[in-house]
Parts: sequence; structure tokens; C-alpha cells
Amino acid sequence: MAHLKQIDIENFKSWRGKQVIGPFMRFNCIIGTNGSGKSNLMDALSFVMGERASALRVKHLGDLIHGAHVGRPVSRTARVSMRYCDEKGVETEFSRSISGDSSEYRINDARVTFSVYSEELLNIGIITKTQNCLVFQGAVESIALKDPKERTKMFEYISQSRDYAAEYSLKKEALQKA
Ligand code: ATP
Ligand code: MG
Repeated sequence: MAHLKQIDIENFKSWRGKQVIGPFMRFNCIIGTNGSGKSNLMDALSFVMGERASALRVKHLGDLIHGAHVGRPVSRTARVSMRYCDEKGVETEFSRSISGDSSEYRINDARVTFSVYSEELLNIGIITKTQNCLVFQGAVESIALKDPKERTKMFEYISQSRDYAAEYSLKKEALQKA
């Protein structure tokens, strides 16, 4: 089964220097005391999936560099890479680094534009614009409280089944006429 295999982090939020997180199993549980960095791991994942600063609980991308939250960044750059393993065992490494407030994206170490990067992420089922594949602290309640129509819309968007709605209606009409 396709899964996220490993995350490599460098000077991102609470991680100083180079750190490896993983290897991950198909199901993983992250535990730790308050403030130990559990949500930072979600932020690292969101970051490498192309998320903007405000969704990563900071004002500027530069604030993500280790130490920057107290005005003492340890470096001018930070980087997060995620290694994705498909059903056949083929691995792809997605990597994003920041220098100041600008981002650089790489796939298997080759520099790419954000549009190519998000296209490749979409191929493995990650929709960069919405980040709906990640459910953050507090979001479970808001999803549960959505009205059923809104919730259906959300799941249709995430699963991309909405793209087939027109085709489905046409086929349904044809079947009804037959
Ligand atoms: P909770 O259980 O309360 O949700 P948590 O495990 O999710 O906690 P996080 O929010 O992931 O905790 O981590 C917060 C910690 O990250 C804080 O201690 C903060 O000092 C640290 N932190 C945030 N940004 C940076 C940064 N740029 N450099 C170093 N440490 C940082
Ligand atoms: Mg948290």
C-alpha cells in the first residue's frame, strides 16, 4: 500500500539541524507532552505539501526557521523533505526549502516550479490548495458540525468525485430513458 515513508527536516520549527522522522508504518501515532512538537510535525507536512505561512501558524515563512520564533534563527534556511512510497515500492522525494521568505521546490532533488510540484502531488492524491488530507487540532469538531450538504461537498471535493458529476448525470439520464 502507498504510504508516507520518512520525513527529513532541517532547522524547521522545533528541530535544530538535520533530523529524520520515520520510517512510518501504514498507521502511526505521535505522542508527546504539550508543546513537544506534535503539531509542528503536521506543520512540517503541510509545509512540504506547499502550504502558505498563515496556515503554518506563523506570519512569515522565515519564522519557520528554528529559533526565529524568539528572534534568533539558527540559519538562513529551513528544509522539509517527505519520502513517498507508491504501491510498487517506488519512492519519490518531495522537498521544499525556504530562504528568507522565498520557497524552492524539488522532486527527487531536481528543482521544479510550484505548478509542476503540485501537479506531481496531485498525482499521489494530495490537493495542495486545500490541505483537506490533513485534519488539524480543533478541525474534527468543525467538520462534525458542518451541515450534511456542506460535508458532502467537502468529501466530493477531497475525493475528486465532483469531477465525474456531469458524466454520472448523463449516464443516469441515459439509463432512465432506456
Ligand atoms: P499541544 O499538545 O499543546 O498541542 P504540541 O506537541 O502540538 O502541543 P507544538 O505546537 O507542535 O506542540 O510545538 C510548540 C513548540 O514549538 C513550542 O515550544 C515552541 O517553542 C516551538 N517552536 C515553534 N516555532 C519554533 C521555531 N521557529 N523554533 C524553535 N522552536 C519553535
Ligand atoms: Mg498541538
